[in-house]
Amino acid sequence: MTMTNPFYKSAKWERKRAAILKRDEYLCQECKRYNKSTEANVVHHIFPLEQYPEYALENWNLISLCHQCHECMHERYTGKLSPLGMQWVDRVSLKYGIDKKKLFKTANGYSVYLVWGSPASGKTTYVKKHRRDEDMVIDLDLIKQSISMQGKTNTGEHLLPVALSIREHLYNMVEHREIPCNVWVVAGLPRLADRARLIKRLKPDEVLFMNVPKEECIQRALNDNERADKELQIRIINKWFNEFEPDPPSLYL
Ligand SMILES: [Zn+2]
Repeated sequence: MTMTNPFYKSAKWERKRAAILKRDEYLCQECKRYNKSTEANVVHHIFPLEQYPEYALENWNLISLCHQCHECMHERYTGKLSPLGMQWVDRVSLKYGIDKKKLFKTANGYSVYLVWGSPASGKTTYVKKHRRDEDMVIDLDLIKQSISMQGKTNTGEHLLPVALSIREHLYNMVEHREIPCNVWVVAGLPRLADRARLIKRLKPDEVLFMNVPKEECIQRALNDNERADKELQIRIINKWFNEFEPDPPSLYL
């Protein structure tokens, strides 16, 4: 959060800031979650001041943090909330019923969502449930299906380079915010470096990990009539989990 906003120089804020530090016993509330006692020296707006000036002085919207944890709440380059910052937003919005919509507006007014996880982890189901009719979806499997007229798991591998090339073109359009609607990017992305690269490139407004254990993914694939080749399904799920590297807490810095 930029400190140039005149709000931060106001007496109201100085008083509130002191009261919040006192309330939190001058301890970082993020470190506290991990049973660490660190002196707090920043008071953080969970719902950012810029988009939510109406919550600027609400006690529930303010937490004391150490400098290091505060840095982790925001993306270094965009200043937007990091996934850790979003975790606090999620907790507060759930508890107090606050609408998160204003956080997900990009420069052109549309949002980009990245949904990642193992095959059969529920990515498509999630997108189907949350997308609006006019939204766009980028999913390699769907691209393969649309150029082959084949079902979910019967698409010939010979078309993979073509599908990848189409997806690359679409990613470019997302990167330059040329798509005139919200975009859902659906991808496996088990490897940390691949994920970090794509996030850096597409700058999604929200990153959603379908965190489902392997056994459950396999069970879902077995129950899904659209996934005809069960052996292939189990193989690709196993492959994903073999390659899977979870996010370290500081990935997005
Ligand atoms: Zn801390």
